[in-house]
Amino acid sequence: MARYKPDCNYIYDQLEQMFPDAHCQLDYGSIFQLAVAVMLSAQTTDVSVNKVTPALFARYPDAFAMGQADQKDVEEMIRSIGLYRNKAASVIAMSRQLVEEYDGVVPNEMDKLTLLRGIGRKSANVILSEGYKIPAIAVDTHVHRVSIRLYLANENDDVDQVEKKLMKQFSKDRWSRLHHLLIFFGRYQCSSRNPHCEDCPFKQHCRYLKGKEQL
Ligand code: SF4
Repeated sequence: MARYKPDCNYIYDQLEQMFPDAHCQLDYGSIFQLAVAVMLSAQTTDVSVNKVTPALFARYPDAFAMGQADQKDVEEMIRSIGLYRNKAASVIAMSRQLVEEYDGVVPNEMDKLTLLRGIGRKSANVILSEGYKIPAIAVDTHVHRVSIRLYLANENDDVDQVEKKLMKQFSKDRWSRLHHLLIFFGRYQCSSRNPHCEDCPFKQHCRYLKGKEQL
């Protein structure tokens, strides 16, 4: 039997219809603040990050201020989001790097971004795409899961492989939008444990449902 090939236009159009309002849900007022918010969002929700960042950014609005922050003070301000000690240390160290190497400006190149403390490829892609409007696809846990369920990637693909496959299958002008659409789809329809399959437009070709049928 021929291998199933997903219809990327259909997937994209359906997602667009389902989530016309898909967007970055982190609150920020500058690319520096976006970078900090992205760092803080590791293993927690955007909603919980948005609760701590208004006060944090009011006190430390840019790399110069954050680079001179007292770590204990930052820890206290972000305590509710978990991993707060590591995150506070990373945010301060990253800010110092920005001041020392880039005059306080967040770079707009992947290679430079990923050399910053606490910034991995996923975070760098968010900064490029959301902050600098450079086409990019950040693969987080939602994008990873739903890409596999929709046959846009293979079951054992890691996040880097999923990113490459998505970039190959979708035109560049769709990358950044696709990232938001897949995140919203993963958050609000195709959740990890309780996906809403009944009204899903992709149930004819879903790896998750196929796996259940075979049980
Ligand atoms: S049918 Fe269910 S598991 Fe499959 S893509 Fe849709 S919501 Fe996700």
